[in-house]
Amino acid sequence: MRQPPYIGRFAPSPTGPLHAGSLVAALASWLDARAHGGQWLVRIEDVDTPRCVPGAVETILQQLATCGLLPDAAPVYQSQRGLLYQQALDQLTRAGLAYPCGCTRQDIASALAKSGQARERHSELVYPGTCRVGLRDKPARAWRFLTTHVGQSTEVSWTDRRLGQQTQNISEQVGDFVLRRADGLWAYQLAVVVDDAAQGITDVVRGEDLADNTARQILLQRALGLPTPRYLHTPLVLGANGEKLSKQNGAQALLLSDPLAALNAAAACLQLPAASGTLSEALAQWTHQWAAQWALKSHGERFHHSPA
Ligand code: GLU
Repeated sequence: MRQPPYIGRFAPSPTGPLHAGSLVAALASWLDARAHGGQWLVRIEDVDTPRCVPGAVETILQQLATCGLLPDAAPVYQSQRGLLYQQALDQLTRAGLAYPCGCTRQDIASALAKSGQARERHSELVYPGTCRVGLRDKPARAWRFLTTHVGQSTEVSWTDRRLGQQTQNISEQVGDFVLRRADGLWAYQLAVVVDDAAQGITDVVRGEDLADNTARQILLQRALGLPTPRYLHTPLVLGANGEKLSKQNGAQALLLSDPLAALNAAAACLQLPAASGTLSEALAQWTHQWAAQWALKSHGERFHHSPA
């Protein structure tokens, strides 16, 4: 069967300028799109408005442009797509797969303590399912996805192009996760799934710190009747302390007075050799090497995974 034409994306949250880690994801997704002869889109993930920093969008787009990473269409902004997310939530609610939740964090903690089953994951409590049976006069706060009624099992397996086979039992390890937050903001999981499908994304290439979200996103895609893209999670750039670089732990914003040096550092993280010459010559060399590294055939065709 013929594959749909390759469409990839880079989806930064404008919580600050790009740093060395986010440039790796940007470069990898750009190279993968170019090596497939596909399109590369940029989506600004500005749904979590309290975390957005004024001016960050302009800085990020400027940083990408300085590195020669130019999107094939105007960027889309999640803050303008609330209607699409609402439609998806309505669809899930009609299917009995989303429900309102009136629990505060304290309610969740005490329900878990009472049942002796307190489970935490990435400092988030695994929701015990209290409001599945209804709100019992509590006002609705958040909306959650019902993880146990989808087909037979909520164990989701998927194959990452770099990490290989992955499996997660969502109802046990994550629990009924949030689709719309108590503050009224759309949750990342719902927005990303709706947008990847609406933009026809065939390949998600992003940092390995996001790999853990993929099973939830696949579950949502199935519940909404949407296709599942291929996934490739790129290596993380570690700081001097051995921890993942992030804006939170003070990752240095990229100094783009020397974009080739910044790109060379990102390329090294992707196990691509150093490149010289002009920016576009370097990008062309890496595109070629990327295609060889991932054993890509001509665009649009299925390719084989070759572990890096
Ligand atoms: N907006 C997310 C971030 O900046 C990336 C989401 C994604 O690529 O799926 O971490």
